[in-house]
Amino acid sequence: MKTRINSKNGDSLSILGFGCMRFPTKNGAIDESRSIQMIHDSIEKGVNYFDTAYIYQNGKSELLLGKALQGGYRDRVNIATKLPPFLVNKLDNAKKIFATELERLQTDHIDYYLLHMLTDKAMYDRLAGLGIMEWLEEQKAAGTVRNIGFSFHGGKTDFERIVKAYPWDFCQIQYNYMDENNQATTSGLTLAVSLGIPVIVMEPLRGGKLVTNLPEQARNAFHNCDPNRTPAEWGLRWIWNHPEVNVVLSGMSDEEQVEENIRIASDAEPNSLSDVELKVFEQVKAELLEKTKIPCTGCGYCMPCPAGVNIPGCFSCYNDKYLMADKSARMRYFQTLGAISAKPAVASQCKSCGKCESHCPQKIEIRKELKTVSREMEGVLYKPVVGIVRKFMKVK
Ligand code: SF4
Ligand code: SF4
Repeated sequence: MKTRINSKNGDSLSILGFGCMRFPTKNGAIDESRSIQMIHDSIEKGVNYFDTAYIYQNGKSELLLGKALQGGYRDRVNIATKLPPFLVNKLDNAKKIFATELERLQTDHIDYYLLHMLTDKAMYDRLAGLGIMEWLEEQKAAGTVRNIGFSFHGGKTDFERIVKAYPWDFCQIQYNYMDENNQATTSGLTLAVSLGIPVIVMEPLRGGKLVTNLPEQARNAFHNCDPNRTPAEWGLRWIWNHPEVNVVLSGMSDEEQVEENIRIASDAEPNSLSDVELKVFEQVKAELLEKTKIPCTGCGYCMPCPAGVNIPGCFSCYNDKYLMADKSARMRYFQTLGAISAKPAVASQCKSCGKCESHCPQKIEIRKELKTVSREMEGVLYKPVVGIVRKFMKVK
């Protein structure tokens, strides 16, 4: 197992992190014996970073991980888990959730603790306004939290604002060969590293969609370059090729995936892909873009929108819904575009001013397309439901 050093605290982290949101299930519950065996096998082969969350698998992921790490395994690994902002509207909520997490995980400290799924700066400001950051610093001083970070699913501008808002110990972003210009983007990755903030990558294969839903032509392009590599291997190697990335999380749900990922992580070096190999990704991306409903490349030239719409973010979720038959695209649309935040960036925010369209090199009729996105992704229930949720969370 290759490792990379966390530049901020010297931790030697396995480049493969175990994402604990997709443990195998049996009769509707986590298959405990299989999951525990997968965790033990991965630790024996060098994996030392386990990423779970309060909400994963309805809270059962933390419980399972805690159980699996008994018998001496806990001290050999780093546990990352998260505080869900949508369940926190006062500091006391956070304290209770954290106490539950320690109990579930059967540990007295969390190595990497994250504000879960921030999508915009207003969300961070709301939590900071509740005193969460000061409280986390107290936990750090007491040794119950070793590193304070956040995971992010919004647009580039908000990532830049959040990453500069606090002296984070680390951050976690969605990054893969299809998301260079989406969410935090490559420039966000570079910015975090320039600020001395280590980066953990999630969704390296977009929840498996870059494997299972890859169009045939794209699959062939990979195969023709190296028939021995699977699309999963290509996707992972692309991220590990970036020296800026510390750990890549993979949500492994069977033994085969664990074995394959550990094999790849045993020899994946930064800057190791050849020019020919890198060109294949351009071919694959071109194939994917050709099949998209809205030919948005995510270049961002249309941004910023004065009404706050994350134009490329809206188009990306909408395209995923069709291109990858991605059933979670709608949920992701609401999450990543801050639907319940103080400043939503969803398509229905568009005021049709037209300012963006002249900047689009793809000549996309942005206003017209945003209307379609709003109709299909938000539907009629969006505004009343969001109103209720915002009221509960005291979002102004
Ligand atoms: S047309 Fe809509 S999306 Fe474009 S800049 Fe104006 S408000 Fe923003
Ligand atoms: S300018 Fe056009 S292609 Fe670029 S992000 Fe905006 S809509 Fe997409």
